[in-house]
Amino acid sequence: MSGVTFNRNRAKLKKLLGIRARLALLALLLVAPLMLERVRSLDDTRSKQIAAASEEFVNITQHSADTQREVISSVETMLKSAAYIRASGGIARSCEILRASLPTNLPWIRSIMIVAKDGLVQCSTLNMQVGLNLGDRDYFRKAQETRDFVFSDYLFGKTNGRPMMMAAYPVAAINPEEDAVVVAGINIDWLSKIMTNLGGRPGISSLLVDSAGIVIAAPADQTSMIGRPLDNVPLLAAIADKALGSNAPSGSLSFAGTDGSKRMISFARISGTQSRLIVSIDEAKVTAAINRDIRTAYLQLGFVCLFVLLGALIGAEKLIINPIEVMTGMARRFGEGDWSARVARNKLPSEFMPLARAFNAMAAQLSQRERELIATNDRLTVMASIDMLSGLANRRGFQSRLDFEWMKAQQYNSELSLLMIDVDHFKLYNDSYGHPEGDACLTRLGEALAGISADTMGFAGRYGGEEFCLLLPNTDSLKALAIGETVRAAVQSLGIPHVTSSHKTVTVSVGVAATLPNDTQRPGDLIEAADAALYAAKHRGRNTVVEHGFTRLIDEAGMALAG
Ligand code: GH3
Ligand code: MG
Ligand code: MG
Repeated sequence: MSGVTFNRNRAKLKKLLGIRARLALLALLLVAPLMLERVRSLDDTRSKQIAAASEEFVNITQHSADTQREVISSVETMLKSAAYIRASGGIARSCEILRASLPTNLPWIRSIMIVAKDGLVQCSTLNMQVGLNLGDRDYFRKAQETRDFVFSDYLFGKTNGRPMMMAAYPVAAINPEEDAVVVAGINIDWLSKIMTNLGGRPGISSLLVDSAGIVIAAPADQTSMIGRPLDNVPLLAAIADKALGSNAPSGSLSFAGTDGSKRMISFARISGTQSRLIVSIDEAKVTAAINRDIRTAYLQLGFVCLFVLLGALIGAEKLIINPIEVMTGMARRFGEGDWSARVARNKLPSEFMPLARAFNAMAAQLSQRERELIATNDRLTVMASIDMLSGLANRRGFQSRLDFEWMKAQQYNSELSLLMIDVDHFKLYNDSYGHPEGDACLTRLGEALAGISADTMGFAGRYGGEEFCLLLPNTDSLKALAIGETVRAAVQSLGIPHVTSSHKTVTVSVGVAATLPNDTQRPGDLIEAADAALYAAKHRGRNTVVEHGFTRLIDEAGMALAG
């Protein structure tokens, strides 16, 4: 039982593993290593791209911080120049030079002021600032105390309420006898603009925060954060802790947001100030582009596999299955005896040509052989119905001709006659002259009978042994009787010696029967009637013709005698 199941499973498996499936499997096996290699290289590319993005990210932070630093140092340079101007001349002259020399290529410097020791603005590139008192400002005091460049935290402008920062440089740093302080208003918008230029990549956001953790610059899409403490920005709160809590001038750290997004944080302190640049990168967003590329690559890979599969299937169909079906179709037509079937060569791949040629040659040979067989068969059929000794039809041939003539006579309502002819005392002939001589005698009688049958439009045959028959279509009994007499006389006139016969020559007895074939009779009845007449002829002394059903008798003199 288990053997049967096993065999059935094997058969199923074989069916499944048809040529198509096998070729598809082969194609996949060939493509698989390439596919795996491609997958591996894609993964490799992915990690390389992420590494490159991280590196680029650190560079962006550094570059961004450098740019910010340049901005700050341009402010410091400007303030120092102004301090020199103030140190080297009176207030009125210094103001004049200052107004004339404020460069237009430093748009982030909103104004430069010379502030007296008590905090009163003595002179400014913006007229409306003259007379303001900055004496209570931290940066102002700090500049006076430290005698060094001071950068304020984030604040709102007194004159216009816009967010800004201040930078201060005491003239005392150049000339200790001077107590004025040079102050510059820094336009924060400009810092943000610079950041926008530096950032602008998906998933990357950068912020400039002051020492108190207030955002002082942000890219264009995040300007709402300017002026807000970083603590209020949920995701960046932790960054502020780490970035601000550390004393390192720059660094980077990984951070998982509450929303589960993974961010990488990079920060750098802007030297000479308390501000820090914080750049955060959303890994998911950065890798999204890479992932998209990878997905496209996987999709392409999938398509390649699909094409390979389809190619294998179509190839198998066109190159193997179709030719096999063409051949099978032809073999089937051969089987049905259609030898004219030929394989159209242009429909097959060249590898199938020898097979197609062999098939076509086989068809031609088989067709030739069939023709020969038919001819041989025809010859055999003829031979099977001919008696070789007499050259006349044999019993079989005679029978079938009788059936045919019977049907014809019945159809045309014509008479049909039959002569049964038997050699007299032929046993004695054989005894006297030997069997071969007997054969020769039968041959001569056959020839004679053939001549008569040709003359009488009859059909002569050897019924068996030394017994012949002559079928006479369209012949009535009278005519048949006359022909019977012709036969008898012809044989006698051959003059074949027969010493043991009373006639001294070979003679025959003839039984004649004639009929108008109808449904009540059978061909066998005609034979029986002729046989009976022959029997009567023998009985009457041989060398005689007797007609069945009649008392008419013809003796050797050809005279009709009353029976
Ligand atoms: P009857 O006059 O009564 O016909 O006498 P018969 O001797 O001719 O008749 P019978 O039936 O006694 O003998 C027929 C003989 O014909 C016997 C057989 O040896 C001979 N014979 C039959 N066929 C052949 C043949 O093909 N060749 C030869 N040589 N003899 C044959
Ligand atoms: Mg006989
Ligand atoms: Mg005989």
